[in-house]
Amino acid sequence: MKRTLIHQVLQSPALGSDITVAGWVRTRRDSKGGFSFIELNDGSCFGNLQVIADAKLSNYETEVVKLFPGSSVVVQGKLVASQGAEQAFELAAANVKVLGFCEPTEYPLGKQRISFERLREVAHLRARTNSFGAVARVRNALAFATHKFFQDRHFLYLHTPIITASDCEGAGEMFQVTTLPLDKLPRDPETQQIDYKLDFFGKRASLTVSGQLEGETYACALGDIYTFGPTFRAENSNTRRHLAEFWMIEPEMAFADLADDADLAEDYLRFLFRYVLEHCQEDLKFFNDRIDKTVTQTLTSLADSQFRRITYTEAVDILKASGKTFEFPVEWGSDLQSEHERYLTEEHFKGPVTVTGYPKQIKAFYMRQNDDGNTVAAMDVLLPNVGEIIGGSQREERLDRLEARIREIGFDPKDYWWYCDLRRFGSVPHAGFGLGFERMVQFCTGMHNIRDVIPYPRAPGSVEF
Ligand code: ATP
Ligand code: MN
Repeated sequence: MKRTLIHQVLQSPALGSDITVAGWVRTRRDSKGGFSFIELNDGSCFGNLQVIADAKLSNYETEVVKLFPGSSVVVQGKLVASQGAEQAFELAAANVKVLGFCEPTEYPLGKQRISFERLREVAHLRARTNSFGAVARVRNALAFATHKFFQDRHFLYLHTPIITASDCEGAGEMFQVTTLPLDKLPRDPETQQIDYKLDFFGKRASLTVSGQLEGETYACALGDIYTFGPTFRAENSNTRRHLAEFWMIEPEMAFADLADDADLAEDYLRFLFRYVLEHCQEDLKFFNDRIDKTVTQTLTSLADSQFRRITYTEAVDILKASGKTFEFPVEWGSDLQSEHERYLTEEHFKGPVTVTGYPKQIKAFYMRQNDDGNTVAAMDVLLPNVGEIIGGSQREERLDRLEARIREIGFDPKDYWWYCDLRRFGSVPHAGFGLGFERMVQFCTGMHNIRDVIPYPRAPGSVEF
């Protein structure tokens, strides 16, 4: 169908021209003057196009007056100046073709406001609401901006596997992938252990929790790379910041240290904020008006801001000196909780903070060990409201140190033979990070719950659609 997108019409209206648009009716009201006003939305932008349908249309009585919210139509007509005060122009319909009626008593998205919780139960329709349409467009813009940022810097886009045999984070939060019959698992007659040699891959396999280890192998051949793909974590945390399936962007830079890594992370974040401010103005206005009154202001101030950089030890000192009682007490050696991250960003620094040099016990084995023997070259970037948005590190490039650390945590370096090989054959310093894409969408939209910034959220007990 040759149609004009409503965003085009609204952006550069060619008054007097004959156009065809298609979309879903948001509202329709009859006027006493013998016509109907239809608010039409086609998803190409936040705004609607007002269609004015004259009672003289041949299908006016039989069809047009039966157009309730959610109905789909194709309208051909002339773009004319509007008499109404609310819009400068409208489409005077010469022809309204109904594609699909929508029964108002059955349609879940009527005129009344519906809670985000309820909308999750009708997630197949929620993209038709203002909020979810706007989220989808901002998400799209952030994805495009991500590719633009890295491609402009000559990073190579790498596809890493979704099914893997290595547990990158060592946190045991993996979804297993198997074709073994779950009601009759083959077991070794002596040990009674499950015999994974009979499984599809001949060994135990899982969904990836991170593409990092595989990403490193390509960075150690091709230089700077990034991945952008789905990630799976079976963490049973019902928070507003965790999903079981989420998307992660993981750049890895060769010949780079932790300071380079922090520079890249901060530049990337500022780029995303600027991009959204520039390209999603209409959607942002909606979020700012209706979801979170601070979101535009926050993005604007962060787009040009310097991020504070502090060490983990300094962070602990600040938290201890804060005089606040936290649910989780702060002790050197324990991980920073969401409440601590929020105190640092929202109350103490009133802005984003990059924290470096975490205790090695609470971080993954591959992070580069610092000379103090206690800490590693790790960094987390913290934002107000969402807390940790990025986790990264310089990687341990010294073979002996890496193998020793793998043994220390009770693993066998042989299981990571290919990862260790990178350190055996022409090792180079390298660093990278992972950014949780949904947390970024959350931050840029002000949406409270992470389940409302991904089309079909997967979380404990929830895998509908
Ligand atoms: P958190 O402490 O918030 O659970 P993490 O330390 O487990 O995060 P990393 O392993 O460093 O996170 O992963 C990198 C990034 O991926 C995080 O900074 C965060 O933005 C995002 N992330 C991690 N877990 C989840 C999840 N379950 N759902 C959505 N995003 C996540
Ligand atoms: Mn986690």
